[in-house]
Amino acid sequence: MTTPCLRVENLNVMYDVGKRKLHAAKDVSFEIAPGETLGLVGESGSGKSTAGLALLRLIEPSSGKIMLGDTNVATAGRRELQLLRKRMQMVFQDPYSSLNPSMTIEQLLTEPLIVHADMAASDRRAAVGKMLESVGLHAGYAARYPHEFSGGQRQRIAIARSMMLHPDLVVLDEPVSALDVSTQSQILKLLKNVQAASGTAFLLVAHDLAVVRLMSPRVAVMYLGEIVETGPSARVYDEPAHPYTAALISAVPFPDPVRQRSANRIILGGDLPSPLNPPSGCRFRTRCPFAMDICARAAPPTVQVEGGGVAACHLHTEGPKLGGRSLNAFMRERNIGAMEVTT
Ligand code: SF4
Repeated sequence: MTTPCLRVENLNVMYDVGKRKLHAAKDVSFEIAPGETLGLVGESGSGKSTAGLALLRLIEPSSGKIMLGDTNVATAGRRELQLLRKRMQMVFQDPYSSLNPSMTIEQLLTEPLIVHADMAASDRRAAVGKMLESVGLHAGYAARYPHEFSGGQRQRIAIARSMMLHPDLVVLDEPVSALDVSTQSQILKLLKNVQAASGTAFLLVAHDLAVVRLMSPRVAVMYLGEIVETGPSARVYDEPAHPYTAALISAVPFPDPVRQRSANRIILGGDLPSPLNPPSGCRFRTRCPFAMDICARAAPPTVQVEGGGVAACHLHTEGPKLGGRSLNAFMRERNIGAMEVTT
């Protein structure tokens, strides 16, 4: 088996809010292979961006391991962290604010090289020109400022900046959500090309399930700070094994209206509970149409799912005892069409 590029084990991020603790990421664990893209999805407030930022220590983890190769990012000292930053980069959601407006594109792209690489100025200039061309921009744009570019061009520049040091991993935090639809598809295609050429692993943090399916062979689903399901995207999207995943996917429209009407659907109601006061037992229980008594009493076990991956839900070991089968299979067997949460 390939050694993972990144292995996250029981990552916790807690904030003090007055006298209370907010558990923004709870026992988050996953792996990413070299050159792989893992999608991390969930509603706004699910903790997916918090987890992404904690990987790079842009916010401090409270506990857990973040293994980049053999090095634990979570416990790295200042000097070691500076060296690790060379190997881990981030592309932010908003290309309008992530690029310093007072710096030229050349200054923005050479900054990581000045900090981390011992290169002559002429070599840095050549590297900038080459990188700009690799993201579909003219090398002559290096003398311009960010405000002279469109949103899509700025995100190309942000991607170029993240790749200047040939990192092992890039965290892409909602990289296309601020862009119009046609620009989105250009940037996603660019990211695929950049990855194919570089072998860099991506963690794609996004709320748009269509984007994640297009980009990520594997997906992890987060709810209220916890990962509730992971697996190959094809299996998770077609045969989800956790009610929350099924509800998220039910909200994605099918291009075929007949399939949409006949699909087994869980229509998600209510709002995300406050992470300051999460429900006992399963955190999804206040919105889950299948909730049982045990769901309030005990956190659900993680079970292996047929077709790959895991899900954390009592339905697999209690009540109908799905034993790792998909929720759709269960709903089809019981002839359940759509279920709506009314609470
Ligand atoms: Fe629903 Fe219970 Fe499963 Fe949570 S553990 S998702 S409440 S059935």
